[in-house]
Amino acid sequence: MRTSGITTEEQQFAQELLDFIDESPSSFHVVESVKEILILHEFKELALEKKWSLLAGGKYFVTRNSSALIAFIVGEGEPDLYGFHLIGTHTDSPSFRIKPLSEIPVEGHYLKLNVETYGGPILNTWLDRPLSLAGRIVLRGESPFTPQIKLYHSDRPLLVIPNLGIHMNRKVNEGLELNKQKDMLPLLTQITDDLQTEGILIRHLAETLGCPSEDILDFDLFLHEYEKGCLIGLQKEYISSGRLDDLAMVHAGTKALASSKPALMTQVLACFDHEECGSTSKQGAASPFLAHILERILLAQKKDRESYFQALAHSFLISADMAHALHPNAGEKHDPVNRPILNGGPVIKISANQSYTTDAESAAVFEALCKQAGIQFQKFVNRSDERGGSTIGPISSTHLDIRSVDIGNPVLAMHSVRELGGVKDHLAIANIFAMFYKTL
Ligand SMILES: [Zn+2]
Repeated sequence: MRTSGITTEEQQFAQELLDFIDESPSSFHVVESVKEILILHEFKELALEKKWSLLAGGKYFVTRNSSALIAFIVGEGEPDLYGFHLIGTHTDSPSFRIKPLSEIPVEGHYLKLNVETYGGPILNTWLDRPLSLAGRIVLRGESPFTPQIKLYHSDRPLLVIPNLGIHMNRKVNEGLELNKQKDMLPLLTQITDDLQTEGILIRHLAETLGCPSEDILDFDLFLHEYEKGCLIGLQKEYISSGRLDDLAMVHAGTKALASSKPALMTQVLACFDHEECGSTSKQGAASPFLAHILERILLAQKKDRESYFQALAHSFLISADMAHALHPNAGEKHDPVNRPILNGGPVIKISANQSYTTDAESAAVFEALCKQAGIQFQKFVNRSDERGGSTIGPISSTHLDIRSVDIGNPVLAMHSVRELGGVKDHLAIANIFAMFYKTL
């Protein structure tokens, strides 16, 4: 089926996504941006360390490590009968993390930063781009166990990883091999007479925060592309932006939950961290974070563990992470017949070897929701001789006994510093999420 024309509403919603991504340069900022939308819609923050009392129809959220978040609207029906409708996403994206003792002088002239690769970025896309720094800085608190957390986001381009000129690398266009420790270190500054290089990064951070350098105990800082994303194509039908994986799903999920009305079941949005490195952190999908929150929702309603397991049996999870669209220059990389395209609608991801949780039954649930919302969907399977990726769905499934489908919007250049998505698909998935949250 051919794609229909692009509407202004679709372009506006894609533009909202670009603003959301621009304001969310690290997983910590993603959580802040999600919180902002939720608070605007009267969601209340719950503390993990306090006892909860929840109201039926009440809207709440919790955060973990400032980089993961679970939001929910308590169902108005009996939880053991109606369970949870969950959407799972992730806040992190491939990048580079600043190492401790990061300043490396080069022949007394340049100062570069020592970085560690995070997740699986397409390395060469990070070259020659204005880059900036974002993340969190941890300051001395009242006691050793209560350090203060401050978010940091440089508002200007600070760093660049320059390519090697073609005359020094004549075979560059036959395939570029980049070493993560040698070739990917960003240039920070010129060493001048009056510049004290030692501790320069900490001093810059302290200046920005307006605190003494000694107060900075540690930091989680990552590189990101400085330039904002844009709509592109003759009809402005594509979204060119970094971190569509998975902020497009975080954004669509947040917007859908924020505008949802209470239903009989409890509606949940989970935004995990650390998907790009395997999800095995306390705030990742392989942690007990989600299972504990779901159980506490039941306990706060004076239900027991038996009711919790009954609720799980009535629940459904949409694991939402991006999918590969048909590449205009590399059609041979795809399955011969299942070839999702940009702007062709959300993609159901299928893998016989269970890299995705989708089965015929859970796919049918998603397909029926798409039909109900009047939205086209597509299917993705790997070419049989390609390994493909995985996502949070299968990891969540090993911790939570819930029916689940893996889906995502089609993108090109997944894990490039700039990915390419479809304008139509973004509004489409938000509408399907809204339908999922209200359909029993
Ligand atoms: Zn992803």
